[in-house]
Amino acid sequence: MQAMVGGGRLPLFDAHCHLQDPRIAHCMPHLLTAAVEAGVRWFAVNGTSEQDWDVVRKMGDTYPTVIPCFGLHPWYVANRSPSWFSTLQSKLEAVPTAAVGEVGLDKGSHCQTIDFETQVEVLKKQLQLAQTLQRPVAVHCVNAFGSLQDILQEMGTFPAGIIMHSYSGPAEMVRMLAKYGAYFSFSGFFTSMKVEKAKQVLLQVPLDRILLETDAPDAFPRLDPSNLYWVPEDHASSSKGSGDNSNAEDHAIEGLPNLNVQHNQAGGTEKISKSKVKAKIKSLSRRSVLNHPSNIYALLSYISSLLGTSEEELSHITFGNAMHLYSFSGSKVV
Ligand SMILES: [Zn+2]
Repeated sequence: MQAMVGGGRLPLFDAHCHLQDPRIAHCMPHLLTAAVEAGVRWFAVNGTSEQDWDVVRKMGDTYPTVIPCFGLHPWYVANRSPSWFSTLQSKLEAVPTAAVGEVGLDKGSHCQTIDFETQVEVLKKQLQLAQTLQRPVAVHCVNAFGSLQDILQEMGTFPAGIIMHSYSGPAEMVRMLAKYGAYFSFSGFFTSMKVEKAKQVLLQVPLDRILLETDAPDAFPRLDPSNLYWVPEDHASSSKGSGDNSNAEDHAIEGLPNLNVQHNQAGGTEKISKSKVKAKIKSLSRRSVLNHPSNIYALLSYISSLLGTSEEELSHITFGNAMHLYSFSGSKVV
């Protein structure tokens, strides 16, 4: 069952997500409303390149619960324009409610063709900007923790905080990163990690530095599907036959905890039987399934079980940590 308190859900803060992603543009307001109704109070919506910064800015202007974040993600470093940095700087100066992110380093399969030295150079400029503006910065790091350590040693501490988003690094790095001001944010990706390793990582994280995030629409959790929410199908792209619709039918299942789904779209209500849903889930590649921001509750449940705390306690801790982190001068959270 989902966590309830005082007749409502436990308050949560989605410390990192991408609700501006074009893959969920067809239903984003609906997802946001659903997550707010579920109890999520704030969403740190991270831009990834010059192409989406204005969308993120508009979301921040439109939705009181959205904290906009602007940054150049390592996957998109090769596509940056010559003026990317001045654009980023002026956006952050013009939007005092904005944090920095998503930035980072990636030596994984996604970045094989992206020059690592350029990634380092782009990251350093953005970290420097976060330090100067005294805003928190969300960092993506895949297989590059040694290089990140070198950069932090060179740059010093980050009093406004670093969010180690979707943390997947070794337990041994946690204390070192924390010294520089890092918070550790756990997404659905963490549910793929072996339980013993995941517990070792969590044991190292100071309780005042732990956060929860969905990274939605990515990082669909590897947890009991009967407790997960599903993003509705994009009928528009299906009918045009564009995009990858291999899982379109699965996306049509907008989850309720018991999977006795009532999917209301275009005025119609569709019921999907539990056995049909189970059959779909069996054949599902979870990597390609879009993540719903309400799945942060399933994550709360999973991580509190690993930590041996109650959901209420972990909600209280992570919400307080995120409120503290995002309470920079000019933030909506203040
Ligand atoms: Zn992200």
